[in-house]
Amino acid sequence: MVFKKLLKKLKEAAIERNIGKNSENNNPEYSNRFLKFYHNNKGRLLKERKSSYYEKKKNGICVRCNKPVIEGIIFCEYHQQKQVGYNKEAREK
Ligand SMILES: [Zn+2]
Repeated sequence: MVFKKLLKKLKEAAIERNIGKNSENNNPEYSNRFLKFYHNNKGRLLKERKSSYYEKKKNGICVRCNKPVIEGIIFCEYHQQKQVGYNKEAREK
């Protein structure tokens, strides 16, 4: 019967998936260390990026290149011009 065959295949697939899960659980130290490393780095990198953006903004430094900004905006003259170009392009599309 086709249905029984299908059911058997599904059961086998489920068992295989469980075996896969178990083999991951057999190595919890590695998986935890990896996750710990990933989360630590992700948080640190995001924090650094965020803080440097605000630091630059606060200190009047272009967020793209470290040159002094035009008053009132976050870019230097060069990057302001580039930004104008991007906006123009986006509008024309
Ligand atoms: Zn710049």
